[in-house]
Amino acid sequence: MSTVMIQPATYEDIRKAIDRAFEIFPLNLKSKKILIKPNVLRASEANEAIVTNPAVLAAVVQRVESMEPASIIVGDNPGIFSYGANEESFRKTGLMAASGGYYRNIGIDAQKIDFNPEYMPTVSLSRAVLEADIIISLPKFKTHGLTIMTGAIKNSYGFLPGAQKARLHKAAGSPARFHEMIVDVFRLRVPDLFIVDAVVGMEGNGPASPELRDIGLILASDNAVALDAVIATMMGCDPAKLGFLRKAKNVGLGDYDLETIEIIGELKRLTDFKLPPLGGEAITHNESIQAVLDRPTLLRPRADEKRCTGCGACVDQCPVSALLMNENYPIADPEICIRCFCCQEICPEKAMALV
Ligand code: SF4
Ligand code: SF4
Repeated sequence: MSTVMIQPATYEDIRKAIDRAFEIFPLNLKSKKILIKPNVLRASEANEAIVTNPAVLAAVVQRVESMEPASIIVGDNPGIFSYGANEESFRKTGLMAASGGYYRNIGIDAQKIDFNPEYMPTVSLSRAVLEADIIISLPKFKTHGLTIMTGAIKNSYGFLPGAQKARLHKAAGSPARFHEMIVDVFRLRVPDLFIVDAVVGMEGNGPASPELRDIGLILASDNAVALDAVIATMMGCDPAKLGFLRKAKNVGLGDYDLETIEIIGELKRLTDFKLPPLGGEAITHNESIQAVLDRPTLLRPRADEKRCTGCGACVDQCPVSALLMNENYPIADPEICIRCFCCQEICPEKAMALV
C-alpha cells in the first residue's frame, strides 16, 4: 500500500509541512548526492504560480542541508519557451535565491541513454539526474491541457534538456502516445520523494493559466502514481481515465486505485475545480480522457485576440509548423496540428487556449 500525505500549509509557514513530509517518508541523505528538482516551466513571476513556489524550495533545501548530504544540486530544464534561459528562469521566479547557492544549470551536461525506440532510440538526460543518489521532485499542483494535470510523473519530463522535448512531442504525434511517452521518461530515473506545492494551485487552461486557486496544502509521497491519483481526485478527475496513470500502473510503478492508498490527512475534492476544456464537460460518460484527446475535431488551439500580441513565438516553436500568422493572429491547421499543446505552454500572454 502506498501512502500520500496531505498537510495544510501557507507559504509563510511552510516548514512544518515540509518537515512532516520528511518524517513520514524518511530518507537517509548522509554523505549522498542529492538533486532537488522544482517545476520550472519558464521564466515567470512566482505569484503567477506557473512554477514551484520559492518558499517550498527554500524549506526543502534547508531541511536537506541539515541532513549532512555530500552535495546538493537544485536544477531543472525549463520548457520549450525557456530553452537556453535556464538561469533567467530560476532568477525571475525567485527560485535562484531560494536554492541557497545550490543552483546548477543541469541542461549543459547531459548523457545519451537508450529510450523507447517507438519514439526515439536515445534521449539525452541531464547528468545530474543520472549521478544523483537521491532525487527529490517538487511538482506544482496544476492543470495541463494535454495531460489534464501535471504532477509527480509529468515533472520528470524536465529531466530532458533542450529542444528534444519538442522533438519527442512530435515523435509522439498524438495525445495518447504522449501520455505513454512521459511514463517512459519518468521510468528513466524514478525520484525518491515527491513534495507537491499545492498551497496555490492552478485550474483551467494550465500549465500557464491565469486562473489560480488557493488550496493551502502540501502533498507528499514516495510513490508518484498514488500521489497523482490523489491530485486528480482533488481536481474532480477520475484517475482511471488518465492514460499516463493507466500506463504507469501497467508497468508496475504503482496503483491509482484509492482503495490501495493510505491517506495521512484529509482528501477532499475541490469544489467546482475547473479542469482543462477536454478534461471536463467533454467527458460525460465512461470514455477515457485519452480517447477524447485523440478526437481532432474537439481540439482547436486558438488565440484570444484580446490577449495575443502577435509576437509569433508560438508559430516559431510549433514542432510541426501547424501555425501561421493571419492578420497578426496565429491560426492552427487542424490537419497538421498534433495537439501537443506547446503553443499554449509557451505563450507569454497566456493567450492560447484549447477550445
Ligand atoms: S498566441 Fe501568444 S505566442 Fe502566439 S502570437 Fe499570440 S501572444 Fe504570441
Ligand atoms: S498548433 Fe499548437 S498544439 Fe498544434 S502542433 Fe503546433 S504547437 Fe502543438
